[in-house]
Amino acid sequence: IPRFSAIDEVQTDTEALMTTIQFGIAHSLAKISPKPKRDLLLPDFLTADNIPFPHQGSESTPAHKYKHFSLKSYSPAAFRHLRDHFDIQPEDFIASVCYTPLKQLGNPGASGSVFYLTQDDKYIIKTVSFNEAFFLQKLLAGYWMNLVQNTQTLLPKFLGLYAYQSGSRKIRFVVMNNLLPSTIKYHYKFDLKGSTYGRRASMKEKRKTSPTFKDLDFIQMFPQGLSTTPEMYSKLINTLHRDCMVLESFDIMDYSLLLAVHNVSEEFRVNRSRFDLPMESHVIDTNTMNSNHPIHSDSIICEPDTPTETPLDNQNLTSYLDRIPEDGVVATLPNGDIAVVYVGIIDILQKYRAKKKIEHAMKSVITKGDTVSVHNPAFYSLRFKKFMSQDIFHPEETTNQQPKPNMR
Ligand code: ATP
Ligand code: CA
Ligand code: CA
Repeated sequence: IPRFSAIDEVQTDTEALMTTIQFGIAHSLAKISPKPKRDLLLPDFLTADNIPFPHQGSESTPAHKYKHFSLKSYSPAAFRHLRDHFDIQPEDFIASVCYTPLKQLGNPGASGSVFYLTQDDKYIIKTVSFNEAFFLQKLLAGYWMNLVQNTQTLLPKFLGLYAYQSGSRKIRFVVMNNLLPSTIKYHYKFDLKGSTYGRRASMKEKRKTSPTFKDLDFIQMFPQGLSTTPEMYSKLINTLHRDCMVLESFDIMDYSLLLAVHNVSEEFRVNRSRFDLPMESHVIDTNTMNSNHPIHSDSIICEPDTPTETPLDNQNLTSYLDRIPEDGVVATLPNGDIAVVYVGIIDILQKYRAKKKIEHAMKSVITKGDTVSVHNPAFYSLRFKKFMSQDIFHPEETTNQQPKPNMR
């Protein structure tokens, strides 16, 4: 059980709340850890363990300075299995999530969810609604089937689902991987759905240090899309197809492809003197970046309001390359620049319901129905796949005689 140093510090309400939640998660993880491992059974997906934390402590929980609260851990055995599957060691997970203060991210979404990032940049904690939490538990067995069958999956890595309750206050949250670790700079970041209606970043968003652009911005910025090797292209599109099939089978929609671009050529131009390279060496040997690493799964979120640029001063080429997460897709930008692109499907807990049907009907009145992002799941998935395979990614033309980077 962790020592809770943060408990004595002066904290705001939210900080105190998060510290309490971390304290609760630590206990819940410590409780499941010693249990012998066994194969996952279907009922494991549907259980929940509610631990009360009385102020004065109990036989199994220590006394604490906060109000009486309880922490419900949903499907604890299933999530332990999932963390194992993702090669996350229990002691590392507890250290990342529970032992250092979390950083709150400035409102990245419109839903009102609050996002927290762990100090080490590895995990995101997102608050979710009752419906989303309920739905994730229902989805979990199907999600596990996809993980096992579709090993390249781009779906989020769900690592835990909890509910904190104190009096009438109830907060549900999910722990997942951070797709965009801040070891490198993301020159562009997009949240893409395949719809065009209103899908442009607001002026407020664009003024941020690391804005998240949308579909229409992408089309404007990269009208020819991003090209990858034909092998990488088919791998990526095939994975998207399989993931969309799962999402569609659960009537899920409104999800996005989070796509971040690290422009390697640009970094080389900016830092040429530091790398001690001649002018033309911006075409780098992608072998050194382990480019045969298929499609991802862990990468970064840039904190929307903080600079993510890591100056390359005093860094040599090797240390720069070492900092590039290996799970990106190597792509060529329309101007010939080489980039590493990080992709993942996010926000998959929205089920098509009556409210969405009404929203679609209303929006269709004022615009052409097909461009609206709220649609039925089959249509949503079809349009999403079409957009990603035609407008976002392209297979490189093999007949092109221009010198190509080595893609392995
Ligand atoms: P809405 O429902 O209004 O779209 P939301 O509150 O459900 O918003 P998300 O769509 O899940 O929020 O995420 C909002 C933003 O947060 C994304 O566009 C992305 O920039 C960032 N984000 C979400 N999940 C991750 C993740 N796993 N890794 C990195 N960044 C993420
Ligand atoms: Ca979203
Ligand atoms: Ca959402």
